[in-house]
Amino acid sequence: MASRKRKLERLAESALKRAQALSHIDTRDDYARLPPGAVPADPAQLAHNNTYGRLPRFYLDRAIKCRSCGKEEVWPAERQKWWYEVAKGHIHSTAVYCRACRNEDKERKALARKVHLDGLARKRKRIR
Ligand SMILES: [Zn+2]
Repeated sequence: MASRKRKLERLAESALKRAQALSHIDTRDDYARLPPGAVPADPAQLAHNNTYGRLPRFYLDRAIKCRSCGKEEVWPAERQKWWYEVAKGHIHSTAVYCRACRNEDKERKALARKVHLDGLARKRKRIR
């Protein structure tokens, strides 16, 4: 029997293959039928984009290659919707790091912040 980890790896592989197979679809095409797994875009939430280019009508899982470790990973349609419509990311920005590298970076920044704030607290104590 395959381990849970192996199963998850296989799922990620097939999701990546699916995303690569859909990469030719233009998500800004006014006449394209929504492929299975597409997440509709909300044009009102994309109004912050200052661009003459067309905006997407829907999001599809996209394959990205991590800029740091080179791993190929899926940037899920739901997370793209969040990035562009809730976090108000610019429509020409995309994910460039894989999840593992992003989490690593988050931890590094949290540690740097803690060291900085602890240093400030020590300094304030000395002044008083
Ligand atoms: Zn990475």
